Amino acid sequence: MTVQDKDKIQEDNKVTFAETALTLAGKSQEEARRTGAVDRADEQVEAGYAAQYKTVNSPIHKAIWEKKVALDLFSSGSINPEAACVPAMKACLEAAARHRDANTLYESNGKLSAAFRKDLATNGYFGMLIEQQYGGQGASVQHFMTFLGQMATIDPTTSGLASVHGCIGAVDPVRTYGNEEQKQRFLPRLASGQAQSGFALTEPNAGSDLTALRTVAVDNGDHYLLTGEKLFITNALPGHTVGVVCLIDGKPSALVVDLPAQENEQFQVVPYHIWALRRIHNNGLRFNKLAVPKTNRLVPKIGDGLTVAYHGLNLGRLALCATAAGAMRIMLSNMLPWAKFRETYGAAIDTRELVKRRIARTAALITGADALYTWGSWLLDNGYRGELECIIAKIFGSEAQKEVAIEYFMKSHGGRSFLGGHLFGDNVHDFLAPCIFEGEGEMLGMAFFKALAKDHGQKYFEPIGLALQKHKLKTLNPMNPAHVLALFPELMNYAMWRSGAELATPDSPDLKNVNPKLKEHVEFALEMFCKLPLELSGNMVKHQLKLADRQCRIADMSQRVQDTVTMLVTCLYASRQANEVTIAAADILCEDLKRRIKGGHASDTYFRKCSKLADMIIEGGMASINGIHQFDILFPYEKK
Ligand SMILES: Cc1cc2nc3c(=O)[nH]c(=O)nc-3n(C[C@H](O)[C@H](O)[C@H](O)COP(=O)(O)OP(=O)(O)OC[C@H]3O[C@@H](n4cnc5c(N)ncnc54)[C@H](O)[C@@H]3O)c2cc1C
Repeated sequence: MTVQDKDKIQEDNKVTFAETALTLAGKSQEEARRTGAVDRADEQVEAGYAAQYKTVNSPIHKAIWEKKVALDLFSSGSINPEAACVPAMKACLEAAARHRDANTLYESNGKLSAAFRKDLATNGYFGMLIEQQYGGQGASVQHFMTFLGQMATIDPTTSGLASVHGCIGAVDPVRTYGNEEQKQRFLPRLASGQAQSGFALTEPNAGSDLTALRTVAVDNGDHYLLTGEKLFITNALPGHTVGVVCLIDGKPSALVVDLPAQENEQFQVVPYHIWALRRIHNNGLRFNKLAVPKTNRLVPKIGDGLTVAYHGLNLGRLALCATAAGAMRIMLSNMLPWAKFRETYGAAIDTRELVKRRIARTAALITGADALYTWGSWLLDNGYRGELECIIAKIFGSEAQKEVAIEYFMKSHGGRSFLGGHLFGDNVHDFLAPCIFEGEGEMLGMAFFKALAKDHGQKYFEPIGLALQKHKLKTLNPMNPAHVLALFPELMNYAMWRSGAELATPDSPDLKNVNPKLKEHVEFALEMFCKLPLELSGNMVKHQLKLADRQCRIADMSQRVQDTVTMLVTCLYASRQANEVTIAAADILCEDLKRRIKGGHASDTYFRKCSKLADMIIEGGMASINGIHQFDILFPYEKK
């Protein structure tokens, strides 16, 4: 931790940049205070990382603000096939395939079966991320996410369960923030699956706004008494071990809570009918003075309960993207036999350009999701905070899965999509819910922009804001000489940056490892990295203190940055795969992203490329979907 970090976080009540900006913009004290609390939690997470791994030194931040596009940091290494965790992963995948084929994945109530969960536990499923010394498999993040992507091609719910348990559940908080005694007490039980876990953050009144938390833990000797209600909590049943974020002395704090084995006066499950994640449990939790030992409190060196939550959410966001990649593979694999079978106007629909484009676009989105979660995992394994990268993976993965489910899978299956027993009809809520959990996508997109623009704002605009305040000016009018004179040093500082940015040319790293078919896209992304700072900063100048209210502009800019990053990461990933289908899919994705960034219409060449890619996939050229279970075609009929 640097001296500046210490200064930043020493006072819990220190006014942050966001708070200053909102106050100057005339927002209520309440709004400024709450936003400041989130900002402070973010600064505290950031302070926990060594300088080179902080958001300001992340590959994205450097590419935008320093125009240094280090291609090797947008790429990722391959995983070691001999790693100690690999046999356990293979055994779990085999167990899942066995239960799927024997129709024993779920029990009669539709939930994952006890027999299957037991098999998973025996094979080390619940300890994948836990160090071997505590009974786990000690998998790297990249191994774990790759494994989840594979598990999701067999059963996405099972993959989601590992994420809930290992990423946002109790495992990551205890591993990352627990002291040695807590690790020894909790991790072996969590690794063996004896203790199942979840994470309880959301409350009826606090979802997007985590500063509205009301659950409290009150000091009672060697225990806290926990009181409050949690909503939408996955895998949190009696007897499970749950990370709970609550207020202790008014400060968000994290407790590891062993839920009583039976409901009682102090603890109840709040049941409700929810369509999403229906194969695992999702319910509310009500606490009424539940005694929790003080030794169960996780106390990060820097930060509080939100720090703990944010760390796990980063992992959860990658896991969501990996799971989405697997789920999209199931959809693609099941689109093919149907499209071959279904004939209209005398020809199978898989011969039609429209359907081929759906197949191609699905493959393109799978490739993008693979690229993003692999890259994000690799950065986390290398010590990076990964805030921006995990947000991109989460938004891309969830939006891609939604698009594939609705636009391509559902539409290609027509009315049969809505039959009971159809993959779409039975799972539609699971395909859509990732857009909401782990942070709703557009809210996260705004958080992405804030994280990216914060340092620039602090360097150039906070001093201007403070000078305005000092001179009792509401806004800056650059045409007013009195304003310019009063703020001369601050304005000069910005003018210097701006003229440098205007004269800058795109970075030109060595592209020798980029596949020739993708070079043009990489060059486009490099150009965008050169233009984006002016666009971002220009909007900060234009909207000044009102920028926080220009949410649509923020969301739009955020998306353009995300799309640019996705292009670069996908091209580098596909170049490394050196596989014809992956390269063609990356090409399609990049054309789509470029069109979204620049506007304009798809060319005929693009449509021909889509058809060509679809033909390769129809002919079995996409190895990663071969062997995925294909469901029976509903209402099959004799062909004339
Ligand atoms: C299937 C499922 C599983 C879940 N599992 C868990 C779990 O295990 N643990 C847990 O803690 N939580 C869990 N959640 C909760 C989830 O994280 C929240 O639903 C999510 O964070 C959004 O919170 P909310 O539903 O309260 O949305 P709200 O806070 O009600 O917001 C609704 C929408 O309003 C808009 N909005 C809100 N504020 C603003 C603003 N300032 N500006 C612009 N727009 C705004 C956004 O579009 C937002 O999505 C789960 C949810 C689901 C559906």
